[in-house]
Amino acid sequence: MAKSKLAQEITFICNSCGETISAWDDGNPYYLDRRGRKHYAYHPDSKREACIGNDSPHLCLSCGKSFMVDSRTPLHQCPKCSSSSICDSYHLQGKSCPFCRKGIFEGRLGGIS
Ligand SMILES: [Zn+2]
Ligand SMILES: [Zn+2]
Repeated sequence: MAKSKLAQEITFICNSCGETISAWDDGNPYYLDRRGRKHYAYHPDSKREACIGNDSPHLCLSCGKSFMVDSRTPLHQCPKCSSSSICDSYHLQGKSCPFCRKGIFEGRLGGIS
């Protein structure tokens, strides 16, 4: 069996309103089929070798919208409010909570897949 990296989940909890955001450290790797359609290959999936890109969840720190950023067509703004203060959902540690605008996110390690 091929050795592959384990995926680690992390959950961020706002220390004021309790809003939680979970993310996996390796995002959502995908490959394209012959028709060019996108398929996700979650761990463990033999198709992971064929993955050519990764959709990673991001959070807008202005309006709180969560959205995917495709590594092949990177976004630098929130698709909803056009703010440039967006953050990879795996790196929310210490960021201000956009939902209550009072707390900050604190990370907790979750499951391993
Ligand atoms: Zn909050
Ligand atoms: Zn936004």
